[in-house]
Amino acid sequence: MNSVPEPRQAGCAAIWMPVGRDAALTAGALERAGIRTKICLNSRETCDEIVGPDAGLLIIAEEALTPATTPPLHEALEKQPAWSDIPILLLTARTSSDRPLDALRKLNALGKAMLLDRPLRTITLVAAVETALRARARQCQIRDYITELQEAHKRLELANADLRQFAFAASHDLQEPLRMVNAFTQLLLERHLNPRDRDAQEYADYVRKGVKRMEALLHDLLSYSKVVHTEPWDESEDFDLSLALTDALTTLKVQIDGTGAIIRYGGLPKVHGDRTQLSLVFQNLVGNSMKYAKQGTPPQIEITTEHTSNENLIRVRDNGIGFDERYAERIFELFQRLNGSETSGTGLGLAISRRIIERHGGRIWAESTPGEGSTFTFTLPAYAAPAPGRELEQDLVA
Ligand code: ADP
Repeated sequence: MNSVPEPRQAGCAAIWMPVGRDAALTAGALERAGIRTKICLNSRETCDEIVGPDAGLLIIAEEALTPATTPPLHEALEKQPAWSDIPILLLTARTSSDRPLDALRKLNALGKAMLLDRPLRTITLVAAVETALRARARQCQIRDYITELQEAHKRLELANADLRQFAFAASHDLQEPLRMVNAFTQLLLERHLNPRDRDAQEYADYVRKGVKRMEALLHDLLSYSKVVHTEPWDESEDFDLSLALTDALTTLKVQIDGTGAIIRYGGLPKVHGDRTQLSLVFQNLVGNSMKYAKQGTPPQIEITTEHTSNENLIRVRDNGIGFDERYAERIFELFQRLNGSETSGTGLGLAISRRIIERHGGRIWAESTPGEGSTFTFTLPAYAAPAPGRELEQDLVA
């Protein structure tokens, strides 16, 4: 992109000068300077050149522009692709008045037009054509970059689709053999193992734990690939975000009862999106707040909203063990866990949440102080004012 492009590679100079020998003389002068030319005999040929693959620039004599020829020329210029802005040299008629300025103004709205007064010296003509062709060569470079980018994008899309398919098929298809391992281990234990054989019982326990962990991983991988698979707008609706939260709290009921968690929320906004997916985000965030609670301290979780002009910020704050903020980005990556062996988990919950929020046009991040608690904040585009009557804080679990 930085090197100066070679003007002669930008295409040929289309010449449309219908009167006398002007076209032939102009073409001759340019050919002698090493510039390729094409003489157009009428408006149709000129229009074909503009949208053709070899279009470098257009040299038009003012007398070519009549009420009959001008509209199709404008139409052809309008048809140029986004990268193209073909240079036009408009040569004045020998008996010129103010007319060429008007023609120039109209052409300039559609291309890069420049006015040259006749009679024209060869040296001026060649210099103007070379400058125009150099500008055209830059446009061709941009076209090539766009084509390369489009091809790379296509390749990426295909690779992504393959990966999505693979992740979905792997996590889905592995569930069946796992169910079989589980069922036959159970049968083996019940029918063939001596209940007093401690070693055998211990090994069977390892198998059970392994199967359970694998089940959790496959379940989360499947959720992840489903999130990646389905666009949020496939299932989107307008709804009060507190409904997604209450869905999540219902799913988490056993954990809430077991930990004695106190969860407060208020003023959640109305949003547009996939209720099931957004409920999964709350499930992950509130579930984590309970999972990473301080021992002996019941989890206190607060969900609040802040509205700005174009988005809603939803914060989930807890009083748990917290984490070193150096890892605040890493925990959103696949399989990244900070408390690996102490707590159960797959390291996928936050990665899934980030995917969901980003697919809804929002962002998600975390702040934390070890020993004091964490705050996870996500944003969603503002679609509507917050639902009325939800401003009071509610204790769901006391
Ligand atoms: P998982 O909980 O299955 O390990 P997540 O993706 O949900 O996976 O979380 C990634 C990691 O981020 C967790 O392993 C934990 O170390 C950390 N983390 C997430 N939420 C919290 C929280 N509320 N308090 C402290 N640490 C957290």
